[in-house]
Amino acid sequence: MAAAAPVDSPESRDNSAPAAEGGSSPGPVPDSPVCLIVLGMAGSGKTTFVQRLTAHLHAQNSPPYVINLDPAVHEVPFPANIDIRDTVNYKEVMKQYGLGPNGGIVTALNLFATRFDQVMQFIEKKRQNHRFVLIDTPGQIEVFTWSASGTIITEALASSFPCVVVYVMDTSRSVHPVTFMSNMLYACSILYKTKLPFIVAMNKTDIIEHSFAVEWMQDFEAFQDALNQETSYVSNLTRSMSLVLDEFYTSLRVVGVSAVTGSGLDQLFTQVEEAAEEYHRDYRPEYERLRRQLVAAQSRKQQEQLERLRKDLGAVDMSPATSAAEEADVAGPSDLIMSRGNRDDSEEEVDDTDDIDHSATEESKESDAFGNFLKERKEVVQVRNRKCAAPDAP
Ligand code: GDP
Ligand code: MG
Repeated sequence: MAAAAPVDSPESRDNSAPAAEGGSSPGPVPDSPVCLIVLGMAGSGKTTFVQRLTAHLHAQNSPPYVINLDPAVHEVPFPANIDIRDTVNYKEVMKQYGLGPNGGIVTALNLFATRFDQVMQFIEKKRQNHRFVLIDTPGQIEVFTWSASGTIITEALASSFPCVVVYVMDTSRSVHPVTFMSNMLYACSILYKTKLPFIVAMNKTDIIEHSFAVEWMQDFEAFQDALNQETSYVSNLTRSMSLVLDEFYTSLRVVGVSAVTGSGLDQLFTQVEEAAEEYHRDYRPEYERLRRQLVAAQSRKQQEQLERLRKDLGAVDMSPATSAAEEADVAGPSDLIMSRGNRDDSEEEVDDTDDIDHSATEESKESDAFGNFLKERKEVVQVRNRKCAAPDAP
């Protein structure tokens, strides 16, 4: 498996150095880096966009901390500090659990989410060195936006750092009013689901300028005129929907960019600064409440586990043989979470790529509902494989 290219050493990451000339300067590193969660339909240009942002920020003497969450990507074209592919082998997940490509990607992301607390610790550790954390997400948007792991990851990030969702949209594929409307409805659903400041990055402006889309959003009549060219029933639905979306448009930040040429990035960063301020002003109180709830739930859970352990110790004879047998039987998710063979873990500070610790306590494995699900799933596949191998067996 291809390993992500290492980035430069932390010593060269002192972002308090003055920014390079030209373009908007990201300025000195604040206390908290801003997390940009990059979402968008497959092929909209998320990965290329993250690559371009990384290059742009490096040129400004403000290297970002970059995380790749797409387990199925063939090659990551930017230096990733954390790469999901170093932690979970999605092809192996597909094979072991008899899943298709989408199921494999979702399960790989779920497995990764079980270790996301470690990712948070890495970001915490480097918070002084980076002004931005860039997060590239899986090609298929629903894998992130409609999965439990996407929510866990988003909430974990947003409860500790200012977070902004950048919705990358393929402008060249949104020239028809109906396609444009579908894309906007998706953006709207993500806005309400993530409850985070939101920027629409209309990408691929090197192919077509995004002015037509801005006009459609600002001028209801212009969009209706475009719709009048369409006669399908979908256009009637779109007409009604466009009324609904009018409110959504008024509060939306839109910027035209090209991930290939790098145009529009200065405007994007101006919008990011505004969105980060909005996070502190409007969203932080809600996420702090969530964080307090999480901490309370965790301590309750710990208390319950301790209580259970105390009871078990009093009631059960824990002979070593029994424990060993149970241990062998518990196939938690960690049997698929790999160790990074081709990297020297002891030299994490040298290449500045961060390794997830894949060891989990037996307690946490046993209490892990997701682990149990995987275990059951694995057994089903094993039984099926046995039946296939011996079809006449009773
Ligand atoms: P993802 O699935 O959203 O991560 O999309 P990719 O980053 O893999 O890009 C999909 C395709 O769109 C690739 O062929 C890119 O070269 C192309 N692409 C991405 N951004 C741009 C852009 O700004 N302009 C043009 N012309 N092509 C782009
Ligand atoms: Mg991608």
